Parts: sequence; C-alpha cells; structure tokens
Amino acid sequence: MKQELLYKPKNGLLEITKEDKKHIEEYCSTYKKFLDAGKTERECVREGIRLAEEKGFKEFKHDMNFVAGDKIYFNNRGKMLILAVIGKNSPAEGIQIAASHIDSPRLDLKPNPLYEDDELAYLKTHYYGGIRKYQWVTIPLELHGMVALKDGREVDVVIGENDEPKLVVTDLLPHLGAEQNKKSLAEGITGEQLNLLIGSEPDADQERDAVKFNVMKLLYDKYGFTEEDFISAELEAVPANKAIDIGLDSSMIGAYGHDDRVCSYAALRAILDMDEIPEKTSICVLADKEEIGSVGVTGMKTNAFETFVEDICNAFGVSLRHCLQNSFCLSADVTAAYDPNFPEVFDKRNNAKLNYGIGLCKYTGARGKSGASDASAETVAYVRRIFDEAGVKWQMADMGRVDVGGGGTVALDMANRNIDTIDAGVPVLSMHAPFEVVSKFDCYMTYKAMKAVYIG
Ligand code: MN
Ligand code: MN
Repeated sequence: MKQELLYKPKNGLLEITKEDKKHIEEYCSTYKKFLDAGKTERECVREGIRLAEEKGFKEFKHDMNFVAGDKIYFNNRGKMLILAVIGKNSPAEGIQIAASHIDSPRLDLKPNPLYEDDELAYLKTHYYGGIRKYQWVTIPLELHGMVALKDGREVDVVIGENDEPKLVVTDLLPHLGAEQNKKSLAEGITGEQLNLLIGSEPDADQERDAVKFNVMKLLYDKYGFTEEDFISAELEAVPANKAIDIGLDSSMIGAYGHDDRVCSYAALRAILDMDEIPEKTSICVLADKEEIGSVGVTGMKTNAFETFVEDICNAFGVSLRHCLQNSFCLSADVTAAYDPNFPEVFDKRNNAKLNYGIGLCKYTGARGKSGASDASAETVAYVRRIFDEAGVKWQMADMGRVDVGGGGTVALDMANRNIDTIDAGVPVLSMHAPFEVVSKFDCYMTYKAMKAVYIG
C-alpha cells in the first residue's frame, strides 16, 4: 500500500539489463560522433542532412505533394533544419513536434577582429550566449565557420581540428594575479579580454604589424580571403576537445555543446529511425539562435516554421491554424542536473538527477515563472502517459531554487503559436561551460522519449 501511495523514483542504472546497456552504449557512440562532427549550427545542419539523406529523406520543395510515409527535410539558410515524416492522418488532427536547438555558447569573432599588440597577433571576440567568461581562458580553442565573399562564394573555415595548431585566450599567472583574485568570478575576466592569441612570428619584410601580416598571409594562402572579408564572416571559437567518456565506469559523456545537441541528436535520430508510418505527421526542429533568445530568421520565432508547416497543410487542404491548435510540441532542451558540489542553489526534491532519465520541466523562467509558458496539468499528464507507455524513464526537473536564477527555451515560442508545449531534456552538469557532462543513460532515455513524442 505504502509503495503505491508514495512516489519514490529510483536510479535508472539499477533498473536496466545487460541488453539495455548495450543499446545505450551503441546510441551514445553515435551521439559522440555527431558532437565531433557538429560544433556549430551550420555543421550540425550539414551533418543532419547527411544522416537524413542516408535514410531516404528528400529536400523539401514548396509545391510538393505528399503521401503518408513521405520523408522530407527543410534546410533554412544552412543554420536551421526541420525534418518531417508525413503521417496517415490529416494535418487537421495536429502534428507531433520535437523542437530543439543546435546553437551553443561560444566566442564569435568581431567584424574587425585581427590586430597586433606588442608583437603578438590576436582576434577580438564578442561572446555568444550565456557564458561564464573565466571558463574560456587557457583552454585550446578551434575556429569554425565561414566567410561570405563579395562575389557570392562561400569559404568554409576550420582552424585547429585534429593535430592542427589551436588558438587560446591567455590569463594572468598567480604570481601577478593578486588584484585579479579580489574580483568576483563575473568580473575577473571581461568580455574585451576574450582575445584569441593567433600568432607571434613576424614577417621579416614588414616594418609595422609584421606578426599580423604574417597571420593574414597564412589565412590568405589557406582560405583565399583578405582582412576586409572578416566583415562578412561568421567565425566561432569553440572548445577543441572531442566528446569523451567520463568516470571510471564510463557512465557519462563530457563534451562541448551538449546544450542542446544532446536533445537535437535524440530528436533527429528518433525521426530518422522511424520505420513505421506514424498516425500524425512527425516534425523534428533543430533551431538556431536559442542561446540569444530564439530570434532572427533561423531562430524558433522565425516564420520559416509556419511557412514549412503551412505548405504541408496546403497539400492536404487544411488550414495552418487548425493544424497548430491540435498539435503537440516537446521543447527538447537540457535542464540543470543536481550537483552535490553546489547544493545551496538546488531544491533537492524537485531537481533532476543524473541517471534518473529525461527531465520533464513544467515551467522554466525566473522570478515567479516569468517568461515561462508553464505547461498545463493536462499536458504534463499526457506526457507522463506516453512516456510510461513507451518505457521511458523520466523525472521532474525544476531549474533550481526559487529566485536563485532561471532560464528559458523555445517552449514559449511554440506555445505562443497555439501549440500545447512542454519542456523536457537531458540533465546537464556544468551547463554552458566549454566542457559539459551528461549521463549516457539519460541520453538514451531522451532518444526513447523523442520516439514516443512522434508516435503520440
Ligand atoms: Mn538549451
Ligand atoms: Mn543554453
């Protein structure tokens, strides 16, 4: 009787079989490859398309006709990817959506980044998303992105992969750091100090800016762009580390960009692995710009989403509004994992824990749920049911103690479209750090959860 009355979640690793463990390991090894292939939103889109085409997905065209079982993808400007499997039912009955994001916090180059100071060459950056600046110094960084040339050509740039030389932001030595030590963590390293060291060798023929000139020459020789071309470039400094196992038991993965590629990959893999035609149309969204408010043409607020779904609706003679109001969206984004090192910021009874499965988040926001879409009890009950039916291990996930802080996701952008939406995702340790940690068990459960969402 007591067992039925009281709710006592159990560590998921105590409930799995040897067979389960094998599936988890297989899934996570493909996830680690995805992380290594996609360190920017553009790379994630490219890798997503490659995997989708392997599975028979075709590129979406505006005047397409659809039949149940059709698999399509829509590449929005190379930075946002939407995939769909057309269901048996009319879109009037709604669609099942998993929406995640593929942008991660990083250091973007400024439009005029390259300069020389006392015979060292640097690139100036403007950080993207919520970073703790002190975490980005003295770690090897790579530069990924592209340069758009005036003549229309696009040059892909990857500096620092594999054994190539890397970049770094330097910090003070402790011997001279006494004054800096007195500053708060937020002020110890400033935004304007996040300058990437990119060279120290002068060109012997130059009198002024000889180191800068040498760096520019190396860039020109390899990529064919000039200093002015930096102005129309998107170059992102990202951590150089590869995704690796953490813990002697290899139960966790450490990597850059788990937020939110751990959910993006789960949503992507689940739609790619759908071998039966779903009742309702399944849609997987990998959005850009979540870390700066889901804005812009490739963020979740974009009309590109409506345009895509409306084209599907039109093919069935259904109005977009009616489709959306009957739809469901799982906003698949990571949540804060309880960290025993910092118990003071968490509410133990309501925070997600590693190895307890995907974290279901009724509301995000801050200061009295402000900025949260706050899913309805009915929506939470619906998700409990579909997860339980699919054997998905899940837990509830509050972001932290009341009034300590907070955050947001794409949930409110979807809810504002008149779609019932709730957040759920993998609990992460050290979220937004250059090296974040998740549990393999939770990764796999999130994949199973995404399958359950598409099936409905
Ligand atoms: Mn996120
Ligand atoms: Mn984030």
